[in-house]
Amino acid sequence: MDMNTIEAVVPTTDPAEWRDGDAWLAGGTVLFSYGSTVLKRLLDLGQAGWPAVTVSDAGIELAATCTVAELYALPASEAVAGREWPGLDLLRPCCDSFVASFKVWNMSTVGGNLCTSLPAGPMISLCAGLDATATILGPGGSSRTVPVAMFITGDGQNSLAPGELLRSIQLPASALSAKVAFRRLSLSNLGRSGVLLIGRLDADGGLVITVTAATKRPVQLRFAAAKMAGPAALAAAVGNAIPEELYHDDIHGLPAWRRDMTLRLAEEIRGELLGERLVVSGDFWTGPRQPHATSPQPSAQPPGTTQNQQNTQQKEA
Ligand SMILES: Cc1cc2nc3c(=O)[nH]c(=O)nc-3n(C[C@H](O)[C@H](O)[C@H](O)COP(=O)(O)OP(=O)(O)OC[C@H]3O[C@@H](n4cnc5c(N)ncnc54)[C@H](O)[C@@H]3O)c2cc1C
Repeated sequence: MDMNTIEAVVPTTDPAEWRDGDAWLAGGTVLFSYGSTVLKRLLDLGQAGWPAVTVSDAGIELAATCTVAELYALPASEAVAGREWPGLDLLRPCCDSFVASFKVWNMSTVGGNLCTSLPAGPMISLCAGLDATATILGPGGSSRTVPVAMFITGDGQNSLAPGELLRSIQLPASALSAKVAFRRLSLSNLGRSGVLLIGRLDADGGLVITVTAATKRPVQLRFAAAKMAGPAALAAAVGNAIPEELYHDDIHGLPAWRRDMTLRLAEEIRGELLGERLVVSGDFWTGPRQPHATSPQPSAQPPGTTQNQQNTQQKEA
């Protein structure tokens, strides 16, 4: 939509240029969809020239301006060829969780998704699930890092101060090296995520389950040793970590449903990561190390290439 209050679009990545009435412009899929009656200038990151993806032994750095389409291409690219990182298997299911139009797929950015801070932000799910950290630049030349799981503080809320710019996100090699599991449920076929959980079995034997979409902000459950997380202990941990009021409530799912599905999917993930059994409820997870079947344009998929919760796959490990 038109933004009639905008007086200037300024190409810059310098937080020192920020003043009241400004907004950083990334892909614009939120800014130009929701509009604004108060913004005066857009600080356009479009010419930032930041490399979308930088791979090293330390892990993967994503520029805030990396698009969903660029992220989707990464697992099949030369940049990660030969890397023993099972965590890469999460990238495409998280991209597909946008169930995006051509516009959102090709324009929207990882940073824009984090800064919009919706509970159903799939880039939030990915980055929090892999213990990523965000690098944030401030107007006074400052720089700080914060875990993505703590960067998001509520529905549409984050820890950015006025003028701060999200520069990049670091996905650590330690988390990328973990065995991973993914579960997502939506109330409708190709609907917005109502519940999205990511699990990790780390090299040190620890189990981490990250709950997103169901809750207003990411919630992480950490068990020092996976064997400490039996079904009862896991359910108790979910109950302790997520008070009723933290479950999100909107048209995409009632809090009680989100709580019940969080418990169900957490238990599925526990069973999968511990090799006890493989039960997959929901969309976009074909099981560990299986080829990912979806196309780069989910909205163009033929019927039946995604499954929602009606379509539960069960396999004995
Ligand atoms: C049809 C449709 C469906 C959508 N479905 C979903 C969905 O399922 N889940 C979901 O989470 N979102 C969804 N969105 C919202 C949106 O497309 C995504 O959140 C997208 O990732 C936003 O990225 P962007 O680059 O377009 O952000 P922009 O619109 O450019 O910016 C969004 C906000 O973030 C700020 N911002 C952007 N980059 C930075 C930065 N580097 N540093 C500081 N602030 C920054 C902007 O100032 C603005 O306030 C949908 C949108 C549409 C139109």
